[in-house]
Amino acid sequence: MIDNVHFQSLALPGMTIEGYSRAMVQSVWRVPEWNVGFDVGAMPWHFLDTPNWFITHAHLDHLAALPVLVSRRSIMEFPIPTTIHLPEELVDDVRELLDIWERLDRGPQSCTLKGMIAGDEVSISRDHIVKAYAMRHPVPALGYIVWEVRHKLKEEYQGLPGSAIRDLRQSGVAITEEFRTPLLAYTGDTSPVGLDENPDFFEAKVLITEMSFVRPKHPREKIHSYGHMHIDDFIDRAEKFHNDKVIVGHVSSRYEIDETRLAVRDFVPSPLKERLHVWG
Ligand SMILES: [Zn+2]
Ligand SMILES: [Zn+2]
Repeated sequence: MIDNVHFQSLALPGMTIEGYSRAMVQSVWRVPEWNVGFDVGAMPWHFLDTPNWFITHAHLDHLAALPVLVSRRSIMEFPIPTTIHLPEELVDDVRELLDIWERLDRGPQSCTLKGMIAGDEVSISRDHIVKAYAMRHPVPALGYIVWEVRHKLKEEYQGLPGSAIRDLRQSGVAITEEFRTPLLAYTGDTSPVGLDENPDFFEAKVLITEMSFVRPKHPREKIHSYGHMHIDDFIDRAEKFHNDKVIVGHVSSRYEIDETRLAVRDFVPSPLKERLHVWG
């Protein structure tokens, strides 16, 4: 395996989280089981087989490796074409950027750019959709949730023989209803308002978000105005996180990662502390 960019892996029930995230350095995540990735601040060679990407915003630590991803996937002719989902406001500039790279590199930048606004949904498999949510950051920013979508026979039709169900279906009666489960939520960079305005993020089985700062002397108002979160924002909302696992990344490049780990150990109340995983 070519080991060009460091990343970590965490196997969870039904999904493997792979990625790396530090503020101003890079954020890149993917779930290989679903063929889906989030942000492309850097591009591990190992991640190139992932065709569907969702970009939260255009800061360099989340987008800088886009031409690398698109070019390498174009040249290596992966069977599923590359689709990049990104905030609608970015589409024209990113297209121009890729066109310029195509001229500079004289290699193809073949992909579909799909603009998203909050509320948009995209199907990524028979049972999974990705929905976009507005985040709070100084530039246009979306977060995403992967929902499992299942259709179950309505209760009143359960127990009927197969032939009766077939007849009902053929007569045009809606015999199933939809059940949705939020499996994985990714905020990208946001102030805590992004979570508060989108409570689905507190309900997802796995939440990947940012805890950029932990030091007490870092003023929270300033952190929020830059569109980021402090450990105190998690402590204030500790009861709200119903997630099985909360992965926090995007730790400030000014910190050693152990500083964040120790702050979580010492200050985040249980049971959130036990479910909180500092990535880095
Ligand atoms: Zn960032
Ligand atoms: Zn950012």
